[in-house]
Amino acid sequence: MAKKNSQTKKLSEELFYKKVNYFEQASDSEKKQIFAYADGYKAFLDAAKTEREACDTAVELARKAGFTEYEFGDALKAGDKRYFINRGKSVVVFRIGTENVEEDGLRIIASHIDAPRIDIKQNPLYEEGGMAFLKTHYYGGIKKYQWTAIPLALHGVVVRKDGTKVSLCVGEGEDDPVFYINDLLPHLGADQMAGKAGKIIEGEQLNVVVGGLPHAEDVSDKIKLTVLSILHEKYGMCEEDFLSAELSAVPAFKARDVGFDRALIGAYGHDDRVCAYPALTAVLDAESRHTVLAMLVDKEEIGSEGTTGIQCKVYEDLMEEISLALGANFRKVRSRSKCLSSDVTAAFDPNFAGVYEKMNSAILSCGTAMCKFTGSRGKSGSNDANAEFVGEVRKAFAEGGVVWQTAELGKVDIGGGGTVAKFIADLNIDTVDLGVPVISMHAPWEVISKADLYSNYKAFLAFMK
Ligand code: MN
Ligand code: MN
Repeated sequence: MAKKNSQTKKLSEELFYKKVNYFEQASDSEKKQIFAYADGYKAFLDAAKTEREACDTAVELARKAGFTEYEFGDALKAGDKRYFINRGKSVVVFRIGTENVEEDGLRIIASHIDAPRIDIKQNPLYEEGGMAFLKTHYYGGIKKYQWTAIPLALHGVVVRKDGTKVSLCVGEGEDDPVFYINDLLPHLGADQMAGKAGKIIEGEQLNVVVGGLPHAEDVSDKIKLTVLSILHEKYGMCEEDFLSAELSAVPAFKARDVGFDRALIGAYGHDDRVCAYPALTAVLDAESRHTVLAMLVDKEEIGSEGTTGIQCKVYEDLMEEISLALGANFRKVRSRSKCLSSDVTAAFDPNFAGVYEKMNSAILSCGTAMCKFTGSRGKSGSNDANAEFVGEVRKAFAEGGVVWQTAELGKVDIGGGGTVAKFIADLNIDTVDLGVPVISMHAPWEVISKADLYSNYKAFLAFMK
């Protein structure tokens, strides 16, 4: 009987698929790497809260690693380490490999560096009730009520009347003031709380408090004048300059370890810097025989449109220019290229178990999660990757010792979402989604596991190998 049990056990070990917790699987030395890598990531998060800052920070890291700026038409050869900046909001960091690119294609990892936030309107400043406010229009899919009653920082650029540009970042330094969106006190909130969650704070109530000190001049809008005087003194701005400004209110929180054991990280904008940072560092850190590109793009949260979203032809142009510079036929190059569209997915949350189908949900710390398809209700709007390509990626991960899992975003009839995958697949490039599971996605402060972050990095290294 004992013999039979052990045989059955062996058979089930051979035949059953089992997800594993990466922390449990990792050796002591690998665990150290997991935690050390997370420190670099937290520094990146704090330096890069907007797509412009993420682009600048990525370029800074690339320069330190010996990468130089590329412009269309530049000559390229094996071993070259370059980066291409698109309008200061998106950057492609790439290495030219030794393989013939016409046979081998490109290896692309595409992530986005924009995140949900509260954008300032073009005519925003007014005062009322002893406070000066900026009117806003939120960016991306948010639960509006989550953005009230927390400290906010203002980031962005102002293009002044004379065409000169000035950058602004207030609320990140220890002694900086911060900004604020008001909520209603519970004493007066009975009607509010009885309403639908999507309506308890309306878009036009997301006004950011930016001042409260009346100016000494005897004018009608004294607090507004104080705010404008400070903006004029510090940034050479007058009210009209808001017309050509891009200012965003983002949570003023820093990235912090979460939990007694520090296994998790809480931060603003894990979606999708938790994929963009590993994409960037994988290309910076590792030589490859393949030609590899980390594409860090903008505007994913609002549909990947515009000149800095992945749908812009500039990314196709870049791939074509690389092919041309290497003397290769672009159509052949892209037909042999492969892409990991790297964006976050929802982690299974036992507090909201009802919206997940647990067998096919990403479980925290079980590694980066592959979504063969995304979309919603019947895979609508999805790049559904071919089994052959999934198999190829799976083999590379096995060879690279990557702990990973597959995932769907919630129950079939409930949720859904899209990524940049379908736009890259449009170019005749095999593409599959792979990214880190997130708790409280799109909240001002989201949570991820350090194990999943490092698994994502290792997956990219294996893909590039
Ligand atoms: Mn995303
Ligand atoms: Mn998102």
